[in-house]
Amino acid sequence: MHDLTTRPVTRQTFDEVIVPTYAPAAMVPVRAQGLDLWDQSGKHYLDFTSGIAVSSLGHCHPGVVDAATKQMNTLWHLGNGYTNEPVLRLASALVEATFADRAFFCNSGAEANEAALKLARKYAHEKFGPHKSRIVSCLSSFHGRTLFTVSVGGQPKYTEGFEPLPPSLDHIPYNDIAAAKAAIKDDVCAVIVEPIQGEGGVVPGDVAYLQALRELCNQTGALLIFDEVQSGVGRTGHFYCYQGKGVTPDILTSAKALGNGFPIGAMLTTNEIAKHLGVGSHGTTYGGNPLATTVALKVVETINQPAFLARVREASAKLFTQLAALAGEYPQVFGQVRGEGLLIGLPMAGDFKGKAKDLQKAAEAEGLMVLIAGPDVLRLAPALIVSDAQIDAAMAMLRTATAKLVAAQAK
Ligand SMILES: *Cc1c(COP(=O)(O)O)cnc(C)c1O
Repeated sequence: MHDLTTRPVTRQTFDEVIVPTYAPAAMVPVRAQGLDLWDQSGKHYLDFTSGIAVSSLGHCHPGVVDAATKQMNTLWHLGNGYTNEPVLRLASALVEATFADRAFFCNSGAEANEAALKLARKYAHEKFGPHKSRIVSCLSSFHGRTLFTVSVGGQPKYTEGFEPLPPSLDHIPYNDIAAAKAAIKDDVCAVIVEPIQGEGGVVPGDVAYLQALRELCNQTGALLIFDEVQSGVGRTGHFYCYQGKGVTPDILTSAKALGNGFPIGAMLTTNEIAKHLGVGSHGTTYGGNPLATTVALKVVETINQPAFLARVREASAKLFTQLAALAGEYPQVFGQVRGEGLLIGLPMAGDFKGKAKDLQKAAEAEGLMVLIAGPDVLRLAPALIVSDAQIDAAMAMLRTATAKLVAAQAK
């Protein structure tokens, strides 16, 4: 007899007891340290996914483990009838590190965007009146899976069957200034954009485009929201991506890497805007609890250092160079490598369009975990602590995987 905690489970168990919203890999990871990960059979992998740009300090980072363990033995949770020291320190650190004056904490990227969009509606409602309620977002964007955020997101396949959807949402093509000019009129309360589209295929936003959005928002009184859930917390080699672009939003949302794998989300904004979310207007049970904010504080303290961010840019340059060389060796397989920092997309070309998943599987067989961003783009998002030797090792595995994919295709 096995008890509940030692019962044998396998990938097959997933198909029996989990709601089938995901199609996870055949192997089941059981243990990891840094970028090294092991599955149930003991096979080793190099993790170039960071759990979708989340574990940016690597798995089980000693500093984060230590901070979390101490806090676990001190105070986990209170509820919002009380504040706590870690949340006040985290908010202070984020305010110091960014344009923002104030932070709101929640548990995920979707919740951070939900808060940002609700705030933009409330701000416009109180300042201009109820007619100013339209939200503009980009095609191929991703902002989360609550009904509101998924409707704001620009991927119709994610809203199919969930109608009726919230009204007053417009979608425009990304990086298209003319389309933005046509869409951002006086009835718009918010423009939400990823400064680099992640799920949509790792597409960097043009500086001129983001600047144009800023100007259009200034002209119409709409709030500019940067969704930095994927691009934030060091991923692009800047603490937040906007700091490298030189365009400042009114509201910024953060999650994913902020907790290095412990759930936390944040919405950052200015005093002038924040005052429109008064007492009782919004909230969440866990948001800003001392355990989550202790973890995030350690993450922020570690990543927001000039030397740390400089190393991210250095590792990025090395990985870009090697990926460009691979793409040059296999022009029939790959288009031009793109992205920023350690959020990198390698588009599949020609007959290999639609085969990103096949290459992902081939890489996994070699012992390398990578992501995809849609059917056509291989996505790499290693932990920001990735070493030169790990980059070389990953490239060797990816090269072998590519050669095998090409050979299989030729059969
Ligand atoms: C992942 C992601 C989200 C959603 O975050 P969750 O924590 O899954 O709710 C929102 N926006 C962007 C840009 C993301 O990459």
